[in-house]
Amino acid sequence: MPTLKIHSRMFTHPKILMAGNAATGLWVRLAAWAVHYHPGDWHVPADLTRKYGTPAQIRRMVAAGLAAPAADGYELDAELLAWARDDNRAAIPAEQRRRIYDRDGNACLLCGTTDDLTLDHIHPWSLYGPDTDDNLRTLCRPCNSSKGAKV
Ligand SMILES: [Zn+2]
Repeated sequence: MPTLKIHSRMFTHPKILMAGNAATGLWVRLAAWAVHYHPGDWHVPADLTRKYGTPAQIRRMVAAGLAAPAADGYELDAELLAWARDDNRAAIPAEQRRRIYDRDGNACLLCGTTDDLTLDHIHPWSLYGPDTDDNLRTLCRPCNSSKGAKV
């Protein structure tokens, strides 16, 4: 079950202060829905947004920058959600790390080197990509750093 994490300093974040409690509550509820149904994708349908929030709450959420209008709904502010997650990072267990290195032939999948190997999240961790074997692959540190936060 995916988990939505909220940063302990979020109560002072400028967007939260601007949105107010009601619009922040709506945003947190929509973020929980998005993480539950499609982790890593912050799109929420318009009908769901209208079901959970009043028109005034939706307007304030958008005006504060917690969400932006998108095709058939809204795109929640991924930057703020990623900021919350970065503080709560857990290490990948050594056993899982070895399993993925073995699966990938103990070599970087991009350049083939066997030196300085790391695990790469195919869908970035900061964008809620999970720590599952199918979302992890072996890359060397130089290839992993040049990938950055791209999907
Ligand atoms: Zn490499």
